Amino acid sequence: MQNPVDPVKLDRLAEVAVRTGLNLQPGQDLILTAPVTALPLVRKIVEHAYKAGAGLVTPILSDDQMTLARYQHGHDAGFDRAAGWLFDGMAQAYDQGAARLAVAGGDPMLLSSQDPDKVARANKAMAVAYTPARERITRFATNWTIVAYPDPAWAKLVSPDLPEDAAVHRLAEAIFAASRVSDDNAVESWNAHNTELGRRSAWLDGQDFAALHFTGPGTDLTVGLAEGHKWLGGATRSQNGIVCNPNIPSEEVFTTPHKFRVNGTVSATKPLSHQGTLIQDIAVTFKDGVITQAQARTGEAVLRKVLDTDEGARRLGEVALVPHASPISQSGLLFYNTLFDENAASHIALGQCYATCFQGGETMDSAEVARRGGNDSAIHIDWMIGSNQIDVDGITQDGTRIPVMRKGAWAS
Ligand code: ZN
Ligand code: ZN
Repeated sequence: MQNPVDPVKLDRLAEVAVRTGLNLQPGQDLILTAPVTALPLVRKIVEHAYKAGAGLVTPILSDDQMTLARYQHGHDAGFDRAAGWLFDGMAQAYDQGAARLAVAGGDPMLLSSQDPDKVARANKAMAVAYTPARERITRFATNWTIVAYPDPAWAKLVSPDLPEDAAVHRLAEAIFAASRVSDDNAVESWNAHNTELGRRSAWLDGQDFAALHFTGPGTDLTVGLAEGHKWLGGATRSQNGIVCNPNIPSEEVFTTPHKFRVNGTVSATKPLSHQGTLIQDIAVTFKDGVITQAQARTGEAVLRKVLDTDEGARRLGEVALVPHASPISQSGLLFYNTLFDENAASHIALGQCYATCFQGGETMDSAEVARRGGNDSAIHIDWMIGSNQIDVDGITQDGTRIPVMRKGAWAS
């Protein structure tokens, strides 16, 4: 195999990231983060950004080997530190109008054999230091997006039985298909896809369902929706007025559940990859919004630790609908990466809700979000509950049932 990553499709992915993902404006600066293994994509993105009229592009690269060096040789006290100055600077750049692009990649299992205490401390220090930057991203202060690059460590995890080049090729083609850049009208097909996701969201908003009812093997779950919830999916208008696509790929329409109105049982339809642990066959029971029973065939201890993070970790912050016919689902791969796996099936997320998933949410304070049923937590973990065996009904405010999905496909 000459080049396991098709250079034409890679160039299209870079163009879609800049034009559709970011919708980068002439004169706008760009902050770009990526693993060093993604350099071929990063260079193409920088090229397309300047072609689109970027002011200044600032790339910030990370490296798995250097991260491991910290765990192997770093002084213990250093694990409570993070580069706060860097994230303060990012927040300042967003306030001055810079856009944000993250390239996902790297080895999802990188830290799986490191001291869990050090990993947890480093993650916490990072989460705290990152707050000013994350807060601007989650409220869409600026236009931003995430795309993925098939680096070898990730590819070998997805396809352990293949030689490295073949594994990279397989993951690359799956990323290209999921990102809708396999053929030469990528920007147009994104426009059509955004129109479709917008139409679905508008229909769901028009129904203003009180709840969704999921049924299937091992699942009989009623998810009450927050008061004044709003469905989002695909293109999003950020507060600077620029319409961006924050995730490439993106197949979901999603909204905020009511944190006290979730009841019944639900079984995961795909394994959940969480910080180096594979949690398989999750089954939980909800009572008045809170998980009262939880089990998993593997990784149950990690699942329990997650649920004990804080009060909101046992409640839902997101419910999302994804048809089983989505290109990611059709690939049949487990990506060990939320950007892909959450777009393969309908899902729910434990933890923090999105304030943007409320009518008027842009200006809503956290007390109002909570009053309408929005959940609050330090975690947000998506796990998959959809398949071609799941039906979803919408329950209207007067109790009427309306088919939303049948056997994993949109009912209308
Ligand atoms: Zn989601
Ligand atoms: Zn989510």
